[in-house]
Amino acid sequence: MKNSKFRIVPLATDVAATARRVAASGAPDHAMVVADSPGGFPCRHCLRYAQAGERMILFPYAAIPAGHPYSESGPIFVHAEPCERYHATDEFPADFRKGRVMRAYNSNYDMIDAEVVNGDAPEAIIEKLLEKPETAFVDARSVTHGCYTFRIQRL
Ligand SMILES: [Zn+2]
Repeated sequence: MKNSKFRIVPLATDVAATARRVAASGAPDHAMVVADSPGGFPCRHCLRYAQAGERMILFPYAAIPAGHPYSESGPIFVHAEPCERYHATDEFPADFRKGRVMRAYNSNYDMIDAEVVNGDAPEAIIEKLLEKPETAFVDARSVTHGCYTFRIQRL
């Protein structure tokens, strides 16, 4: 389903490329893992789950930058091999229609609201959160593990 009110913001390509370089240098906080199940290893760059057998890099990413009460750094995966950045930014990524919580933040990175996508259309929840004038952006995170998945901004 396409929409005209928001856009999906996947992880920046230079962040993924840096993670691959740092992992190759053997840094202990950049782990190389092999996906061993479907649906457990979401790549934040191409916004799809890894197939079993694909190599992934697990590394910490500060979705909410340091210096704020809600500052948060946590583990995310990217494909170990270069992948294509998600480009259908007017469509909610199909792999993440379930199991996500949508968190709304203001321009000071304070979390001001959050809602679990629980079988509902995530688009409706995002639009509702963006209707609040103070909402600066919405982050999609794993409802179980809490990990950052991608950002959503107003068009
Ligand atoms: Zn990928």
